[in-house]
Amino acid sequence: MKTSAGDIQFFNTLTREKEKFVPLEKGKAKMYTCGPTVYDFAHIGNFRAFLFEDLLRRWLEYRGFKVTQVMNLTDVDDRTIDAARKLGIPLEQHTAQFIQAFFEDINALNIEKAEHYPRATEHVPEMVALIKKLVEKGYAYRGEDGSIYYDISKFKDYGKLSKFKVTELKAGARVKVDEYEKAEARDFALWKAWDEGDGEVFWETDIGKGRPGWHIECSAMSMKYLGETLDVHTGGVDNMFPHHENEIAQSEAATGKKFVNYWLHNEHLLVEGKRMGKRFGNYYTLRDLIKLGYDPKAVRYLLLSTHYSQQFNFTFEGLEAAKNAIERLTNFMYRLLEADGKGGGEKIAALMNRVEKEFGEAMDDDLNISLALASLFEFVREVNSLLGNNMLSKEEARGVHSLMVGFDRVLGVVGEVQGEEKLPKEAEELIHRREEARRAKDWKTADQIRQQLAVMGIIIEDTPQGLKWRIEKGQNV
Ligand code: AMP
Ligand code: ZN
Repeated sequence: MKTSAGDIQFFNTLTREKEKFVPLEKGKAKMYTCGPTVYDFAHIGNFRAFLFEDLLRRWLEYRGFKVTQVMNLTDVDDRTIDAARKLGIPLEQHTAQFIQAFFEDINALNIEKAEHYPRATEHVPEMVALIKKLVEKGYAYRGEDGSIYYDISKFKDYGKLSKFKVTELKAGARVKVDEYEKAEARDFALWKAWDEGDGEVFWETDIGKGRPGWHIECSAMSMKYLGETLDVHTGGVDNMFPHHENEIAQSEAATGKKFVNYWLHNEHLLVEGKRMGKRFGNYYTLRDLIKLGYDPKAVRYLLLSTHYSQQFNFTFEGLEAAKNAIERLTNFMYRLLEADGKGGGEKIAALMNRVEKEFGEAMDDDLNISLALASLFEFVREVNSLLGNNMLSKEEARGVHSLMVGFDRVLGVVGEVQGEEKLPKEAEELIHRREEARRAKDWKTADQIRQQLAVMGIIIEDTPQGLKWRIEKGQNV
């Protein structure tokens, strides 16, 4: 079936089918995105996941949804404890620098802010409450070491996301570490009783002295901020098992309700055919690439421009191509600002309708970004040729410009393209004098200057971001 505007479809990992997106509440999307484990700088493979989530969020917003996104920060788990211990520093001290670095990086990559960034260490009471509930309902039990385990044989749907069956061998055997393979599926730790390896990291709670397992963190934090059922939950494919499988088991056993309606998983970024990862030593951080002189926006474009369900290799040629693509879009925007031709009439209107429809349909179809970009660049090519023949009027160019601004709200790679408009020196001086008058609370002078500027055709506006100005249409200043 063909999609129409607003008819978004996602490939749902739970059903392995493309499904129409029907949110729990009309016009709203509640989305949980597994965040970074802050034991080190995130690498650009991790950012592929966060950029896919950003694209998803921006597309839902483009289609008018009000998105509530939660991205957790895993600031206590096996890896963070290990890293802090190796350096001999407290856990919070170790994770604080990487939390800060993470926010700097997402800012540089122009990733829109989520509504909530809960930290695991600040939600231990919620995790304890959830574990207690699971024990009460008979889904969890205490092992001899004092840790509390989830009994996977009790949850009949265990394996429904990653598609496997629990065998008798698997049930009853236990695993205490956070990460393990599918073949190692076992009863997993919800609460890890303190042992020497944890050092100073523990909480004294009703269920004993210890710390939470990684999986319970996401169940507790997602449900706290989004409710018992979410619309969308995402992560990289490596999170599907055991992390997301265990999240489902925990949450659904506790509430008796469906945990997530749409599961979306991004494929990996590779290097020479191998998954980029810390443990493989084949990674780049965003900082590495900035040091080499690359613009974070090029990294953004590169990581966004392949469909999230496809693996692809990171290469420097790819990064160069991304840089060129952004340049092409930016130059196009500048050219539009300068256009003052005779007018393309129906032709330009038809091109605009076509790109809007094609871009929209492609993105509605499980975020088919490659198709959306192909259509966009074809549009740019055709309009460029009209511009070359001086066929675009100022008005038409302005229309194309705002259409492009709309696409860039989704892509986030061009940003604000300022016109060539410059204020005459005289006006700049007036604005300066007005600022001084305002600081001195001399409203009368400030108002007089505003009128003087208006006579010159310069309209000013005081906004929370500071003073904004524009030159009135038809004025030659
Ligand atoms: P982590 O900080 O290890 O918990 O990972 C954060 C996110 O990055 C998770 O959603 C992972 O699945 C994802 N991820 C890890 N490695 C890659 C990779 N090479 N390509 C794409 N996503 C990845
Ligand atoms: Zn998670």
